[in-house]
Amino acid sequence: MSNAKSLEQLEQKQDFIRRHIGPNAAQVSEMLAELGVSSVEELIGQTVPDSIRLETGLKIGESRTEVETLSYLKSVAGQNKVFKSYIGQGYHPTHVPNVILRNVLENPGWYTAYTPYQPEIAQGRLESLLNFQTLTMDVTGLDLASASLLDESTAAAEAMALAKRVAKAKKANIFFIADDVHTQTIDVVSTRAEQFGFEVVVAPASDVVNHEIFGALFQYPSTSGEVVDVTDLIAQVQDKKAIACVAADIMSLMLLKAPGKLGADVVLGSAQRFGVPMGYGGPHAAFFATRDKYKRSLPGRIIGVSKDRLGNDALRMAMQTREQHIRREKANSNICTAQVLLANMAAFYAVYHGPQGLKTIAQRINRFASILATGLKSKGVALKHDTWFDTITVVAEEADKNTVVGRAAANEVNFAINHVGEYSIALNETTTRADIAELFDIILGEGHGLDVAAIDAEVAANDITGIPVSLVRDDEILTHPNFNEYHSETEMLRYIKRLENKDLALNHSMISLGSCTMKLNATAEMIPVTWPEFAELHPFCPLEQAQGYQTMMTELHDWLVNITGYDAVSLQPNSGAQGEYAGLIAIRKYHESRGEGHRNVCLIPSSAHGTNPASAQMASMKVVVVGCDDQGNIDLDDLRAKAEEVSENLSCIMVTYPSTHGVYEETIREVCDVVHQHGGQVYMDGANMNAQVGVTSPGFIGSDVSHLNLHKTFCIPHGGGGPGVGPIGVKSHLAPFMPNHSIINVAGTTEGNGAVSAAPYGSAAILPISWAYIAMMGSEGLKQATEIAIVNANYLTAKLADHYPVLYRGRNDRVAHECIVDLRPLKEASGITEMDVAKRLMDYGFHAPTMSFPVAGTLMIEPTESESKVEIDRFIEAMISIREEIAKVESGEWSVENNPLVFAPHTQADVLGNEWERAYDRFYAAFPVPAVAKDKFWPTVTRIDDVYGDRNLICSCPAVETYAE
Ligand SMILES: *Cc1c(COP(=O)(O)O)cnc(C)c1O
Repeated sequence: MSNAKSLEQLEQKQDFIRRHIGPNAAQVSEMLAELGVSSVEELIGQTVPDSIRLETGLKIGESRTEVETLSYLKSVAGQNKVFKSYIGQGYHPTHVPNVILRNVLENPGWYTAYTPYQPEIAQGRLESLLNFQTLTMDVTGLDLASASLLDESTAAAEAMALAKRVAKAKKANIFFIADDVHTQTIDVVSTRAEQFGFEVVVAPASDVVNHEIFGALFQYPSTSGEVVDVTDLIAQVQDKKAIACVAADIMSLMLLKAPGKLGADVVLGSAQRFGVPMGYGGPHAAFFATRDKYKRSLPGRIIGVSKDRLGNDALRMAMQTREQHIRREKANSNICTAQVLLANMAAFYAVYHGPQGLKTIAQRINRFASILATGLKSKGVALKHDTWFDTITVVAEEADKNTVVGRAAANEVNFAINHVGEYSIALNETTTRADIAELFDIILGEGHGLDVAAIDAEVAANDITGIPVSLVRDDEILTHPNFNEYHSETEMLRYIKRLENKDLALNHSMISLGSCTMKLNATAEMIPVTWPEFAELHPFCPLEQAQGYQTMMTELHDWLVNITGYDAVSLQPNSGAQGEYAGLIAIRKYHESRGEGHRNVCLIPSSAHGTNPASAQMASMKVVVVGCDDQGNIDLDDLRAKAEEVSENLSCIMVTYPSTHGVYEETIREVCDVVHQHGGQVYMDGANMNAQVGVTSPGFIGSDVSHLNLHKTFCIPHGGGGPGVGPIGVKSHLAPFMPNHSIINVAGTTEGNGAVSAAPYGSAAILPISWAYIAMMGSEGLKQATEIAIVNANYLTAKLADHYPVLYRGRNDRVAHECIVDLRPLKEASGITEMDVAKRLMDYGFHAPTMSFPVAGTLMIEPTESESKVEIDRFIEAMISIREEIAKVESGEWSVENNPLVFAPHTQADVLGNEWERAYDRFYAAFPVPAVAKDKFWPTVTRIDDVYGDRNLICSCPAVETYAE
C-alpha cells in the first residue's frame, strides 16, 4: 500500500472537526484505556441505551472547511439587501463605536464568559451591568433597575405580570394597552395575557379611565412619533389602584422628561439604538425600572453592590431568592439567559459618549426630524402629529402612500407602512443632511425646491423641536465618573480592557458548567455576526430584502429538524426559557383545539431545571412534582400513580434528557408512553442535546416538543449571561400552534398565532453561529462531538471517583456528558462546603462547575468535547489537590476556620498584605500547584458577602465618595 495521502486529506476537508474537538486521537486512546474500553463505539454502547440509538446517520452532509463555510455564507448574506431603514418601531440604525465593536462584541474575553454566578471572577462585567442599571435609572427616573431583559415587548409582558402581582386593584383582570404602543408589543403582551387569563383592552390612551384595570401600558413617544404628556393618564391609572407602565425610547429620553418623574411605576424599553446593530431583530437588551418597593417582584437579574471579606465594595447578582432557581413555579418570571453582552455594549456606548455626547446625538436626530417636519408642512403635507422626537408620520390616501413607498423602494429606502392610511419615517443616529434632502425628494417628488440648510435656519431661529415645553428634560443625568472619564479612545480602550481582565472566560480555562455546555465558540462561527449584510437589517423590512436570512434560516431549520427528529422548528424564542414557554403554549393550544382545554397539569420531575416549573406557571399550568429514585431516575411508579391521579387533566410532562442527573435513563420511552396513554404531551427539555446529537434524538425517543439551547449545544457563546436562542422543535400535530408575528408573517406557522418575541425570527443575527457550526462539523463531526463529550465526561468521572463520591451513574456505571460530585459527606466530616470548593477553584485558575443543581451540596461537571485531555487533567489535578486540602481539615492539621478553602479566593492584596496569620503560607495560597504559576489568574475581590448585599440593596454605581475612602 502506498503511503501517499488522499486528495481529501491534502485538502484538509475535516480540519475543523479536529479543531472543535479538544482531544486528539492519541489522547482519546489514552482516555479509553483508562476506562477499560477499546473503542469509542464500545463506550457509547455501554452508555446509551440500545433502544434509543439512531439507526441512521444525520443528513447534514460532509464537514465543510472554514474557508468554504465563510465564502458560502458570504454569498448567502449577499442575498440580503441593506436598505436605509426609517422603519423605527423600536429598531434603529446606530453607529457601533469601533472600539466597542472590536473589543467587546468581537472579543472572546467578553463574549465567552458565563453568567456571573461566581462574582469574584466576574467583577468586570458586573461593573458594566451596574453601569447599565445606572443608565436605566437615570433615563427612566426610577430608583430600581434590572440588568437587562430579552426585548422591549417581553419586558412589557413582564411589566404586566409585575402589575398583577403588586397592584392593589386585586379584583381587576384587565390590562390596558394604548393603541399607539408598538404593534409587536401589543402582540407579545396579548399572548402572555391569554396564558395568564387576563383580558387585554387595546384602545386610545384616553379610554383608560373607562376600564377596571390592574395595569396599563403607554408608549413614550408613541409608535407613530407623538410626544404626549402621560402625567394625567398615569394619575388616572393610579387612581384605580393600578400600575402605570411606560415603554420608552432610550434616545428620546436624553431630551425628554423621565417617565418616572411623570409618575410612572414601571418604565421599560429597548437599549438597541445605544450602539447595538439591528441584526434583523436581535439580540438586544431591554431595560426595566420600577420603584424600590417592588424589588421583590422585579423580573430578571439585578446586580447589587455588596462587600467582600476585607470590606471592599464588590458586585454580585442580588436577591436571587426571587428567581426561578429558588422559587420555581412561584418565581416572578422564567427568565434565565438574558442579554448581558448587549446590555454591556449599550452601557459602554453610554460610557463612550457620556451625557454630553449622548445629548448631542439626540439633539441632532431631533433637529433632522424638525427639519423634515417643517419642510413637509411647508408643502402642505398632512402630518399626523404636531409633536415629535425622531419620528414623523404622514397621513396619506393609500394611492399616494403607494407612490411614495414605491419611490422609497427605488431609492433603497424603507418606511414604516404597517398602519393603514399613514406611513412613518423614523430618523436615527446615522441620518445625514443628504438623507433629509433625499427624503424630501422621495416624499414630495422632484422639483419641490426645499433646501435643507434654509429650513435648518428657520428651525433654529424659531426653536422648533417638536417637544412640548412641559416635557423638556431639566435634570442632569449620567453624572457618575464612569460616564465622564473615558472619552478619549485610549482611556476607553483601557477601561474595557481593565474590566475584561477581572473576568475569567473560556479564553483562559475550561468552564465545566454542568447543563450549560460551555464549549468552543469558534472564531469562524463568530465572524459573520458583524457582517453588515446580517447586522444592518430591520426585522420588519420586506421579506424580499431578507432573502439571505431566509436562505440561511431555512437551511438551519432543516438541519435542526433532522438533528431533533421533529417535523418543524420555530426560531423565534430568545432563550431556552422562552422556548419552554412557546412549547407549552403549543401544547395548550393543541389540547384546546381538540376540545380538551381543561388539561392543565404539568408533571415535572424533582430534578428539573427551575425554568421548567416557572414556564409551566406562565402557561397557567398546575405543577405536580414526580419523584426520582436514588439512582436519579424518574420514579416510574410515582409517575404512573400521578398520571393516573390527574389523568383527565394531564397536559404534559417536562423531562430533561439525559436527565440533569447526568444519566441516560433506560425508561425514557416508558415515561413517554405513560404520559401519552393519559392523553398528555411530552416536553423534552433540550438543554442536554449535547449528549444526543447524532446518537439519538427527542423525536426518535417519542417526545412531542423540545426547546434547544443554541447557546449551549450549538456554539452561540454565553456572552456573560446571554444572548441565547431557544428554538422549539415540534412533531407535526403541534406545528400549527407555533408562534407567528403580527407584522411579518412567519412561513410555516398559522396566521393569527401570537408572538413570544418582539421580532419574528427572534435573535436572528446570531443564528449564523449555529449555522456555521453545523456546516463545518457535518453529520460525522456532530456525532463525534457527542461521542467525545461522553468520553471526556466518563474519563473525568473515573479520575475523580477515587477522590469524591459521584452521585449518579447509568448502565455499566457510566455517566452521560456530565457528572455530579457529591460534597455533602465531606462537609459532614470537615465543615468544608461546596461553596468553599467553588471559591478555591478560582485560586487554581478555574471557574466552578454548576453548584447545587440539581442537588444541593454538589457540583455538576460537564467538560464538553472541546476540552483536550491536557486541560481536563489540569482540572482533575486541581480537584484532587483541593481534596487533599479538605483532608487536612478533616485530620485537624488545619482548623475549619483557618485554611485556604474558607479564605478562598485569594487576591493579590490579601496574599501580599502586611498581615498574615494563616495556617498555610502565602505562596501556597496563590500557587497551590505548579501549573498555576504559568498563567495565574487573580480574582480581584475576596469572598463576597451575599447577605449584606441583599440587606442593603444598592443597584446603581456607588457614589463617588465611596471610592475616595
Ligand atoms: C439552561 C437550561 C434551561 C434554560 O435555558 P435559558 O436559555 O437559560 O433560558 C432550561 N433547562 C435546562 C436543563 C438548562 O440547562
